[in-house]
Amino acid sequence: MLNLKQFEVWFVTGSQHLYGPETLKQVAANSQEIAQALNDSLAIPVRVVFKPIVKTPREVTEICQLANSAPACIGLITWCHTFSPSKMWINGLKLLHKPLAHLHTQHNREIPWHAIDMDFMNLNQAAHGDREHGFIMSRMRITRKVVVGFWQDQSVQKQLGSWCRAAAAWHDWQGAKFCRFGDNMREVAVTEGDKVAAQIQFGYSVNGYGIGDLVKFVEAVTETEVGKLVSAYEASYTLSVATAKLPEARALLGQAARIELGLRAFLAAGDFKGFTDTFEDLHRMTQLPGIAAQRLMADGFGFGAEGDWKTCALVRAMKVMAAGLKGGTSFMEDYTYHFDAQRSLVLGAHMLEVCPSIAQGKPSLEVHPLGIGGKADPARLVFDTPPGPALNASLLDMGNRFRLLVNEVEVVPAPQPLPKLPVARAIWAPKPSLEIAAASWIHAGGAHHTGFSQAVTTEMLEDFAALAGIEIAIIDARTTPRDFQQQLRNNEVYYALNKGWMS
Ligand code: MN
Repeated sequence: MLNLKQFEVWFVTGSQHLYGPETLKQVAANSQEIAQALNDSLAIPVRVVFKPIVKTPREVTEICQLANSAPACIGLITWCHTFSPSKMWINGLKLLHKPLAHLHTQHNREIPWHAIDMDFMNLNQAAHGDREHGFIMSRMRITRKVVVGFWQDQSVQKQLGSWCRAAAAWHDWQGAKFCRFGDNMREVAVTEGDKVAAQIQFGYSVNGYGIGDLVKFVEAVTETEVGKLVSAYEASYTLSVATAKLPEARALLGQAARIELGLRAFLAAGDFKGFTDTFEDLHRMTQLPGIAAQRLMADGFGFGAEGDWKTCALVRAMKVMAAGLKGGTSFMEDYTYHFDAQRSLVLGAHMLEVCPSIAQGKPSLEVHPLGIGGKADPARLVFDTPPGPALNASLLDMGNRFRLLVNEVEVVPAPQPLPKLPVARAIWAPKPSLEIAAASWIHAGGAHHTGFSQAVTTEMLEDFAALAGIEIAIIDARTTPRDFQQQLRNNEVYYALNKGWMS
């Protein structure tokens, strides 16, 4: 569903007329070669499109205006092969609304010690040309990614790839629509927030719909469609023995399938990229959507339970960042702990809604009662999550700003079987330890809901926060409680003071 090859980043090389046409021809040829290599790189998930060398203020302004209005363009990679005086970039950069990555590279890897002469020096002067380029962006307080190194190197291409994924997610948010069925879970604070501020900052809108609006779509689904989807469930998943024995299992699976089809139709009709629901508002719904939310997430939709629209939008963004990568991404909740002197663990899960993109093996299709909500027993997919590195991310409304909080974790196999647990789960050891991570998370005001991913990296989220212009706080193997709390205090001051700058 999500294919990042639909997006372009434009490769824009700065120069000037000082060097004469022959040198500029060489600059163009070299830039084209680099753009082509980046386009062909497996580390870069989008198309990289070479653009003609910019040599005058007018050309810079024009390329920035074109980038702003090109629907497929998600950002610019800029580079100055030669010197490109930066006052000629000011007007263009003032207008530019797309993300920018500054690639500080050189066409040649090594200095040709025996052949080098002044012509070579004049042609290959990114070492100082890019410093002039950097100055004007720092002077203008433009947030951008800076990637340094030889353009053929994996590490350089991977850093650019990470930024492309963040830029694609950012692009996807602009004009995105998220729908909420019902409101927030009553009295819960962290899932609340300022939707107007979010739309101004992030570009997506969040609007509410009565659950009855969805029920209309659910009831319009035909029995034939329901039967087909139940058969698809049975073909795709293993029906658990206990569920297979339930006389009402097929009817309950049919209800769940009907809900999934109704939800899909509703989301398609409204062009939504994600949704939230709440067990407190299910009037005329037969079940809380379980397998429906799970399968919609697997198709790339954002989801947040209990009205959690911020996590819903974040899950969607993380799905876009993760497109085509190994490892899944899901809505998640820190559910319960296993304290251990050696290594404490978190069991992450939700009442039902965990995305099967993080499943190890074939999920088990099960129907069980749900203690809350007072509805019929919902169908859900039950599975474990494969071991390996992962992260949890939480987006918070701090009142004067948004904060993205990230904790790197290591998913581990369950130490013991969990025969009675009727929900999908992931078990992880937070970095640097559960004790330090949870204390830091709590100091930072991190939510119980997160976007969990085995594909998205901290670097992608750092790039994403930078181009969204929001705070990011990272809890990883190097985190110490004292430094982390000081960082939060520093950020309070920074985000209070930077409000007025340049605006
Ligand atoms: Mn929850």
